[in-house]
Formats: sequence, structure tokens, C-alpha cells
Amino acid sequence: MKNSVLLLSLFLICGAGWSQQSKNNKAAIDAKVSELLSKMTLEEKVGQMTQITVTIFEDTKKPGYFDAAKLKQGIQDYHIGSILNVPNPGAPTLKRWQETMTAITNEANKTRLKIPVLYGIDAIHGASYTAGATLFPQQIGLAATFNTALVKRGAEISAYETRASSIPWVFSPDLDFPRNPAWSRMWESFGEDAYLSSKMAVALVDGFEGNNNVGSKYSVASCMKHYIGYGSTTTGKDRTPSIIPERILRQYDLTIYQAAIKAGAKSVMVSSGEINGTPVHASKHLITDILKNELGFQGVVVTDWKDIIYLNTRHKVAETKRDAVRIAVMAGIDMSMVPEEFSFYTDLVDLVKKGEVPMSRIDDAVTRILRMKFELNLFQNTVADLKDYPKFGSAEHIQEAYNTAAESITLLKNKDAVLPLNKTEKILVTGATANSMKYLNGGWSYNWQGENSDTYAADKSTILEAFQNKLGKENVLYTAGADLEKEDDTEIQKAVDLAKNASKIVLCLGEKNYTETPGDISDIYISKSQIKLALALSKLNKPIILVLNEGRPRLISDFEDKMSAVIQCYLPGNEGGRALLDILYGDVNPSGRLPYNYPRYPNSLEKYNRKYTESISEGEQNNDATYEKSYLPQFEFGTGLSYTTFSYSNLKIDKSEINNTDEVNVSVDVTNSGKRAGKEAVLLYLSDNFASITPEFKSLKRFEKISLEPNETKTVKFTLNQKDLQFVNEDLKWISEKGTFTIQIANQKTDFLLK
Ligand code: BGC
Repeated sequence: MKNSVLLLSLFLICGAGWSQQSKNNKAAIDAKVSELLSKMTLEEKVGQMTQITVTIFEDTKKPGYFDAAKLKQGIQDYHIGSILNVPNPGAPTLKRWQETMTAITNEANKTRLKIPVLYGIDAIHGASYTAGATLFPQQIGLAATFNTALVKRGAEISAYETRASSIPWVFSPDLDFPRNPAWSRMWESFGEDAYLSSKMAVALVDGFEGNNNVGSKYSVASCMKHYIGYGSTTTGKDRTPSIIPERILRQYDLTIYQAAIKAGAKSVMVSSGEINGTPVHASKHLITDILKNELGFQGVVVTDWKDIIYLNTRHKVAETKRDAVRIAVMAGIDMSMVPEEFSFYTDLVDLVKKGEVPMSRIDDAVTRILRMKFELNLFQNTVADLKDYPKFGSAEHIQEAYNTAAESITLLKNKDAVLPLNKTEKILVTGATANSMKYLNGGWSYNWQGENSDTYAADKSTILEAFQNKLGKENVLYTAGADLEKEDDTEIQKAVDLAKNASKIVLCLGEKNYTETPGDISDIYISKSQIKLALALSKLNKPIILVLNEGRPRLISDFEDKMSAVIQCYLPGNEGGRALLDILYGDVNPSGRLPYNYPRYPNSLEKYNRKYTESISEGEQNNDATYEKSYLPQFEFGTGLSYTTFSYSNLKIDKSEINNTDEVNVSVDVTNSGKRAGKEAVLLYLSDNFASITPEFKSLKRFEKISLEPNETKTVKFTLNQKDLQFVNEDLKWISEKGTFTIQIANQKTDFLLK
């Protein structure tokens, strides 16, 4: 009886909430926010700005369940406005999330103003903290698809399954712009190009937020992170300093945020790093002057984990924790991910009472937080009605994750058309990453480091299992061959012996699951134990297909020339094993393209859009043809082979001379000149041939992914505008300069003149 009453009231709450949502408009929300704000005490306001990790409220004897007194203390005494993270031991079921949110909501409803608690989660590749959710490729793989429609659809599914878990806020997309490929969060980004990153960022924001319909029960608020410069650490180690001139920050990093803000992104998380000696959490210039004032960002600015405290204990710019709170709040922080205690709350209340932080700053922060809560319709509903989510983890969603993985996987080399494989060939599958879901999913999967993927995704196929499913267990030879780190000559010998019975070898190499500081490395080469295995197998003179399963490009130049094929999977998620197999056997034609330069040497980390001086060889400065000599990545940005061939012709522009208001319309014919249907990402690069700030060699300005049947030709059209011709000058202004520009699409080139 009690249960049915509960269910009925839940239904009424949900029903009323969602039907009202469409009536919510900006003015009405603003009015509700100011009315509520006017009723709040200082303590209630500061509580809204406080975010605590859920595990703090757990019953120590019953992990994953609340200790009622602790939850009461957090919500009633400290008035906390937000909770984050996954309860122990990780990845609750939908039902458990529903119970968790019900407990939190019930507690919030006992407070004077009944302000709902905003729950946030790192659902960064699907609802990755919910058991049974659909897991997509990690972001680096999304970028490799060059297919924004597919990526947006994935974000819609992530939003659906996250809201089904009663969670309305995801800490995604990651808009970091890694400059050192060794960085342990490279794979959480969209790679090395700012334009590609902006387009993908918009696709994720639109998908998460339902095209500005964040109050829908199928949408979540997104959180751009980590503002700004986090991914550019000089050393490549996590949370170490960056040096980025503001001109560069504006030309690249900031453009990605600008695009996501324009798409409506509701919140932003601040970088744990420091730029030019100023921790971003302490930078009024970056947070208030640029983000809030110049870019007009109206959403919530949340800190990263413990980062206000770290202003005192790590960055050493604040002598006390209390002073750290003052600095960060005055810099423009709206919410503190404290997250393991309540010092932020007590310090900030005291700072306001003593006049060290003005009430106007608190009101600005709380206005932003309350606005987001109203926009998300949390006042009507925080708990999902599971009946509304029949497609959670469904075959339809899984198919989308599979499609995304299949379009992300990137064929980098295919000597003598060794791929696709033939089902009659005897294959040896070997390598440290061949048989674990951990390596396919990476970090932020079921829990922080993703070490439990094999348990949670036990019903999914590792690469080896996908082979066995396709060919029959008895037809696949397998041994691990190597550990990720430990050298093991016996295992290598086992692989070598087995390989003698195989006609081809599929060698699966890569990295362990990781994120953040636990993923730091001092050597970007792939591990020695794996290099040793590759070299031993290569002595057999049998074709080796190297399958890379890694979050960042670990160098393979010690043995790449001995591999017949190289295929990059990145971190393709739960459906990645299946997708890879379908590509290896030609059931799917690969169409991913590399979203970064894969370095050949640790001291040659040039980007594809390098400056001319980065690729010059000594004494050869006068001849353009020699520029490429010292620039020799293992695989260049944009590399991606297919089992068919595409030819490009008829690159045309509608004007060869333009003035400073004209657009340029570009068209090119793309023909599938091979024998299989295939997808092709068509990339348009632009070069500004001479400029007062040294120009880039070339820069991606447009892309479109198309499908072509054999012998089919499509005309692809792009329009370039004035902004595409501009760069940031020494005065930090976007300008263009007269002169010639070159458009390049595949092997086609044409020039136009800006008069
Ligand atoms: C990470 C963020 C993440 C946050 C909350 C931090 O350690 O840097 O990316 O969103 O934790 O889990």
C-alpha cells in the first residue's frame, strides 16, 4: 500500500513537472529566482554554493547507503546545494540511483525553502556510472568520427540514460586542448585541432541539452571543462603549470568555449592548473573579465575537485584555506567542489559577515545556481520515473554506440591490402590489451579509474571474445604474449610458438585504464614489454596487424616499419571489440581519421598546423619542397584509410578575389573510385600565405562526412566566411590581412585573394 502511494505521488510530481516545463521561459525563471533569493539567509545562499561528494554521507558499515544523520547534517545544517560523484562501490543500478535521489530529495524537502539538490556526475561516455548503461567511445574517438550528427545522437542517448539515473547534470564535454600528447587526459579531449573541437563541443552540448531544452526529462545540463589551459601542461603531467600567451589562448582554446557557450552550455568547471603562474581558480581576469563579462557566460562556474583548498596547499597563493575561499570567490567562482568537508561554507559565511566578500558576489553566484535548477525543472522533479525510460541500455542505444565506435576506429596503415582478413585464415590474437574491457573503456567507467569494467561489462566482448564470437572459439589462437609493464620472456616465447601455426598475427597493444595523475608517464614510448613482443613476433616474417588500444599516442617507431597494418581503436567503449572485428573482417569499411599528429619521436611533437619554421631543415630554407623533411610524424592528423579509394576533382571557388565582407563558396567532387561502399570525411584546410603574425602551415576550417557507393560522385560544398580568414594579433584583436589564401582539400588546391 505504502509503495503504491509513493509511486502515485512520484507520478503526480513528475507529470506536473514535465508538463509545466515548456511554459518556463527566461523571464519567468528570472522572476522566480529573484523571489527565492530575496527569501534566503546568508547561510542558505552559501550552502547553495557548496558541493559535497556523496561518499561523505555514506554509512561506513553499509557502503553505497546513506547515514541519515550525515545526510541531514549536510542538507539541513549546511544547506548544501549540490552533491556529486558515485556512491561506493561504484555504478549503482537505475533503481539504486532512484532510491539515492529519493533520499536526497526527501531531505531537501524538509528544509525551510525546499530547494532541490543538484546532482552532478562524470558521465563522460554514456551514463558511465550506472550499471547497464550504454557506453560510447571516449571523446578522442568521437572526434575521430568527424561525424557531428552521430556524436550528437550519442549525447542524446547519454542524456536520456543519465536522467533515467535521476541525475540532471554531467561534467562533460571536455574542451581541453592538449599541447603535449603525453598528457594523461588527452583521450578526454577532441584532439589537437580547435575547429574540430568546437564542432564536436557543440554537438555534445546540443545533444545533452536537447537543443536548448534542458528542462526535458530526457536532457541534462552540460559542463564544459576544464576552463582553461588545463590540457597544455608543459611537462605533459597532470595538473602541472602551463605557459600560454593570451594571444594563443584566444586564438585556439577560447574559441572552443565560445562555440559551446553559444550553443547554450549551462555550466563550466575551472581548470586545476595554473597559467603563466596564476592558478585559474584565482584568476579574476580569466573567470570574471573574460568568461562572464566578455563572453557573456550566464551559467554556473564550478571549481574542480578540492581546488580552492589547493590554492593554499598546492599552489601556495593563499596563506590559509579561508583566504583561498576569498580569492576564488572574488575571482568569480560560483560553486565549490569542496568536496570532502564543509570548510568552504564556514569560511565564506565568515568572509561575508566581516565584509571581505560582498553580498553582491554571493547573489550573483546563487542566482546562477538557482537559475540552472529552475531551468532543469528540479523544483518539480528530481527523481526519475523509470517507466519513462524504456530504452535505457536498449538494443537501439547499443546499436548507436556500436555505430559510433565503428566510425571512430581509424585505419592508419594497410600495406599490400593485408586487411580485411579472410575468415578462413588462422589468426593468432595476442597482446596485453586483447582480453579486457578495462582497456576498451578506459577511465571514468563505472568508477574513477575504470578498473572494474570487466565485472560491470562482463556481457560485452573484449577483442579476443569478439574474435571467438565471429570465428568460433576453436578457430582462434590466443595467448597474452606480454604484460602491459612486466617483461615476460616465457609469454613472448608462447606467442612466438603459437604464431607458427597462424597465417597472420593480430597484435593488440596499448595502455592500462587511467585518468588524471595516476595516468602520468615519463616515457611516451609504448612500454618496453610490448615493444619486445612486437619485435620478437616480427622476426617470423608473418603479416602483423597492430591494433592500438590507447588513450594517447604511445610511440611505436621502434617497430612500426615491421607491421603490415596499423589500426587505432582509441578507447572505443563497450561495443568497441565488436566494431573492431567487423572492420578487421571487412563487414564495416573504416572511416575514422586521426584527430592528432601521432609522433614518431619524443622530441618531435609538432602539430599538423605547425608554423613553417617548425618543419624547416637547416640550410634549406628557400625551397618549400624541403619543408616537410624534418616534419615527419608517424601518422599525420587526418590520416584514415578505407578499403575503397576516393578521388577528388573539380575544386572550385566562386570568387578568386574578395573584399572584407565577402564569403567564399567552395565545392569539390568526391568519387568512390574503388569497389566497396564507404564513408569519407572531407576536410578543408586553409593557409594564409603571409601574415604579420607568422601563419600556420594550414588549418582545418570545414569538414563533412559523406557516404559513397562504388563509382558514385558527390559534390561537397562549403562556405568560408571572414572569421575563417582571421587570426588574433598582438593587440589581442581578431583581424585579417590582405593577401592570398590557399584552400586545400585532399590533393586539390586553389588560391584566392583578399583585397
Ligand atoms: C576531475 C574532473 C571531474 C571531477 C569530479 C576531478 O578530479 O579533474 O574532470 O569532473 O574530478 O569528479
